[in-house]
Amino acid sequence: MEKDNQEIKDLINSFNENEYFDFVNLHIHSKYSDGAAEFADIINQAHDLGFRKIAICDHNTVEGHKMFRDNILMTGVEFDCWCGYVFMHLLAYGIDVENPILTRFMAKSKQETEMDIVRIFSRRNVKKLIEAIHQSGGIAVLAHPACCWAIDLDKFVQKLISYGLDGIEVFYPYKRHRKIFKFHTEEKVREIADKYNLIKTGGTDCHTRNIL
Ligand SMILES: [Zn+2]
Ligand SMILES: [Zn+2]
Repeated sequence: MEKDNQEIKDLINSFNENEYFDFVNLHIHSKYSDGAAEFADIINQAHDLGFRKIAICDHNTVEGHKMFRDNILMTGVEFDCWCGYVFMHLLAYGIDVENPILTRFMAKSKQETEMDIVRIFSRRNVKKLIEAIHQSGGIAVLAHPACCWAIDLDKFVQKLISYGLDGIEVFYPYKRHRKIFKFHTEEKVREIADKYNLIKTGGTDCHTRNIL
């Protein structure tokens, strides 16, 4: 049975676009994956800087969330997975980090939280993963869609929606995003988000010691 995830949807929908990056950042990495910052230090920085909400989304792990809870912190994780022949990153928010179904999809080794070369061999299937995210009370969000390898992003998102996709990462630094070649434009991503009424999320995908 799926848990109710309306609360997390309402919370994310309550964020204003111009709050992103300075007051809300829903995509931060810590040392639990390939980030440079200590998990607890990210939380402290967010408080000191006057953030409203942050989400730490380490690659394929929620170990940090099992150790630290805070009212400024939303639970999150960024999974490597495949949708057919398309390799993609899927963010999950508002999940129960102890959920046994979702736990099966977590990294089996430290390397699987850090190394691109290991992570690309992920066997996670996006359809099953979205089901597990919903069963753990969370929502599923397509990460940095402009980097998506799909030729037709609109069709690709439609497919993900048929599997239960809830949202799409719209607010992020497109130009300086991880030096990865961009296949799609910001305008296209916004258009698709509106067209399918997807929840719009945002974050910097920060891997550095300081979150600002
Ligand atoms: Zn990513
Ligand atoms: Zn990321």
